[in-house]
Amino acid sequence: MENYKICSCCVSDTTILDIEFDENSVFNFCKMHDRFIEMYPLNDNQSKKLNEIISKMKKGGKVKNTILFLD
Ligand SMILES: [Zn+2]
Repeated sequence: MENYKICSCCVSDTTILDIEFDENSVFNFCKMHDRFIEMYPLNDNQSKKLNEIISKMKKGGKVKNTILFLD
């Protein structure tokens, strides 16, 4: 593939629609994710809740790329 790139911090690559990388080859969503983790650090309870939500979504089979915002 021409201009093929893969994120330097995860497995996201240019096969994802509308993906953008910065000058350090970091996927724009990864940077957003890092910022959210700093703002809203996960504790054990929240991690458990998040994993439950993710496994429900996977069972549903409808979700491919999703960003979750937890409050
Ligand atoms: Zn990444």
